[in-house]
Amino acid sequence: MTSPDRHAGRVAVVTGGAAGIGQAFVERLAREGMRVVIADLADASDTVARAEAAGGEVLAVRCDIASEEGVAALAEASRERFGPADVLVHNAGIYPLVDFAEMTFADWRRVLAVNLDSAFLLCDAFLPGMRARGWGRVVCLSSTAFHAGMGGMVHYVASKGGIIGLVRALAAEVGGDGVTVNAIAPSLVRTKGTTDDPRAFDAVAASQAIARTQVPGDLTGALSFLVSEDAAFVTGQTLVVDGGRVRA
Ligand code: NAD
Repeated sequence: MTSPDRHAGRVAVVTGGAAGIGQAFVERLAREGMRVVIADLADASDTVARAEAAGGEVLAVRCDIASEEGVAALAEASRERFGPADVLVHNAGIYPLVDFAEMTFADWRRVLAVNLDSAFLLCDAFLPGMRARGWGRVVCLSSTAFHAGMGGMVHYVASKGGIIGLVRALAAEVGGDGVTVNAIAPSLVRTKGTTDDPRAFDAVAASQAIARTQVPGDLTGALSFLVSEDAAFVTGQTLVVDGGRVRA
């Protein structure tokens, strides 16, 4: 159930909002009254059109969230357009498949930079304002690839485990200032970035309690809850949303 004023008056920054899960997040928050800044390397005009059609007010900023300059430019553009951000949704991520034996240090560094260093840069940019105003929500995307210890993407699994560690520890530092920090961990979700192989989706679906393929819309309710007033006492947690594949 969505409500058009659930998040009225709030401002969110959503990374990776041009496509996939991030696009569904932007649409949902915009539909529920939040003004949203989309931070993405890619053109986000499709997401902007969808969010505006849902009655939302959005701004798209092209930037690389793995770079200090990119995040500084994002913070400035966001502040100029909508004022201080109340909510940070760190969703952008990359998940290249490569066995450890073939992995270069450059491969490792890029995945850690995009998935985890970015979390530092984004929190560094947006948390001080939330703490000063006494209210804030940070939600980062992890993955049940971490819980499963999935092979073929050691750098990715390490980065998503890093997100869980960051969420747990940072929650302790900012809880007194009205700011919560949580993660959402999906399993395999059908997006443009994931495999085209239907057998992979079928195999994962068969291992879930709810045996169907996960889609981005399955995650939006969890996000809307975590950034809401209802979740004010939920922090440092990783909410697994995967149809009951992992029982965390
Ligand atoms: P996607 O590839 O469909 O979209 C990711 C978006 O992030 C793209 O628009 C891309 O341009 C953007 N992006 C990538 N690098 C960026 C950078 N350096 N700066 C700014 N933007 C950047 O991804 P998705 O499948 O929607 O996944 C979203 C998140 O969910 C990721 O963190 C991913 O690890 C996590 N996740 C996905 C799945 C899945 O199966 N799809 C499962 C578990 C976790």
